[in-house]
Amino acid sequence: MIPDEIIEQVRDSADLVSIIGDTVELKRTGADYRGPCPFHGGQHRNFAVIPKKGRYYCFVCKESGDVFSWYMKRLGMDYPGAVREVARKLGIAIPEGGGRQGPDPREPLYQAVSVAHDWFARQLREAPEAEEARRYLQRRGLDLETVEPLELGYAPRGPAFGHAMTQLGLDEATLLEAGLLARREDGTVVPRFRARLLFPIHDLRGRVVGFGGRLLGPGEPKYLNSPETPIFRKGGTLYNLHAAKNAIRKEESVILVEGYFDVHRLVLAGAENVVAPLGTALTPDQAALLRRYAPTAILLLDSDMAGLKATFRAGDELLRHELRVRVATMPPGEDPDTLVQKGGLSALQAILRDAVDILERKIQILERKGWFADIEHRREALDRLLPTIRATRDPIQRELYLGLVADRTGVSKAVLEHEAAAPEPPRVPEPPARLPESAAPRGAPPRVAGSRAEQQVLRLMIASEEWRARAAEVVKPEWFEHPAVRQLFELLGSNREPGAAAPPTDLPEPIGGLWQRLAGVELPLDFNGQANLFAGATRRLEARPHLRRYRQLTEWIRDAGPAERPELVAEKNRMARELQTRFPEEFRTYGYQLGRRGGRRSLPNP
Ligand SMILES: [Zn+2]
Repeated sequence: MIPDEIIEQVRDSADLVSIIGDTVELKRTGADYRGPCPFHGGQHRNFAVIPKKGRYYCFVCKESGDVFSWYMKRLGMDYPGAVREVARKLGIAIPEGGGRQGPDPREPLYQAVSVAHDWFARQLREAPEAEEARRYLQRRGLDLETVEPLELGYAPRGPAFGHAMTQLGLDEATLLEAGLLARREDGTVVPRFRARLLFPIHDLRGRVVGFGGRLLGPGEPKYLNSPETPIFRKGGTLYNLHAAKNAIRKEESVILVEGYFDVHRLVLAGAENVVAPLGTALTPDQAALLRRYAPTAILLLDSDMAGLKATFRAGDELLRHELRVRVATMPPGEDPDTLVQKGGLSALQAILRDAVDILERKIQILERKGWFADIEHRREALDRLLPTIRATRDPIQRELYLGLVADRTGVSKAVLEHEAAAPEPPRVPEPPARLPESAAPRGAPPRVAGSRAEQQVLRLMIASEEWRARAAEVVKPEWFEHPAVRQLFELLGSNREPGAAAPPTDLPEPIGGLWQRLAGVELPLDFNGQANLFAGATRRLEARPHLRRYRQLTEWIRDAGPAERPELVAEKNRMARELQTRFPEEFRTYGYQLGRRGGRRSLPNP
């Protein structure tokens, strides 16, 4: 048995590009590396190594995997052998004989959390102050006897926890490190959990490593979890997995719900293969963890907007880890907790039975919105469906999905396949609430120019409220590509002051710089001249994404094999006709440029 942490460390440290590059001739393409596929013996560079993800993938034979599967498949090693081989190359020591040398230095932390857990559980059973918590559980239809095996606890309001722990021989430093005490800004130390109902969080070996705390009175946050500690890694832990893992293996599926109460309600009703993430979106590590236990996940989340968003995000993450994903849809206004409370296990079973594949569920929703009815929306619908296809790593599943979407949207499978093979757009991380001092950008602020057409529209909008109103009406914000430029457009669009717009104050620096550049854009003096400028600029902005797509098709055709070429060419011709009708001038300019640059694929930025 090689410890999980070591396996992860080895996987993360391995340089997949150089390992595969030993036997395959790889060339850099953007963020990835491409070469001929050694699995199906391809001649073209259809085999991609994606260092950011630590995975390889063949677009033709669909062979994929990580550094370990590379060794297993190429050199016939078994899994532990592959791990050892990579570890040896990296110089990472693997403890032999399965045992650790000496005691685990984290033992005091496990000890502290365990002692605290016992104490919290006794509070819930006995303390007068916990009456509030007991009544809360009763209101949710959970009496104490039922709750007993769940080992819930109660954290009292005052400092009693700290005193009790000191009496039990635990020192402050350990309690702080275990996340049970917290140090305030003024230096005082307080219990982390106060006036909360506590749900113990276990690791896979069933040891309590942290808590989720539900606030019982008014206040924020409603749920508070233990912080990350040496024994509690939130992203790699799932609530109830320690208890559910055998049932998950047996059922060959895992039910994913949102909250701790949902888990317990389902477990009490008799469904044992239930887990929940820890109050955040499902992480890649959590998805990988689930894949170790089951090939299928059923998502049982709320069916409101937020719930759907969470559903599809979690679904994509699970697809990336080669799970099949189905979505169980709850009646509006219900959550798993209320559903089982009212209808028992049979109500739950009916809903699980009706669970549909995640992509089909997406299509259902888009269909209900009428998005397949016209061309413009169909494009948008496609944009919603593509990420799911892209996320799908299982080759057969992916093939089925491509067929399904081709069927539904009327876009040929070859085109879809190419779009889906395009790299995922980089996921923009959410900005931190407050930028730490050290992370503040240094040196010159980023230059935000906007294209010429973007500048012309903005310049007109600055000039008078008529153009601001007109632009707000006909120009779509997404035509502006840089977020700062789009922000300025939206700001001007909502400005109803008469006359020229005043320069914006207290805006992020890039906009200030852009404003100065705009002053240099010349405007015709008469209305007709301005109207022409406006019409031309907006048409170019609208045409731009379509022209890009056309250019992309051209590139694909150049790289395509003989089997897929005809379909791509047909799509290109169809597109050419459409562009010729909708944007004749822009399309002509584009064609001219293509010719003049000898077929170079540079699209003028309008
Ligand atoms: Zn291949």
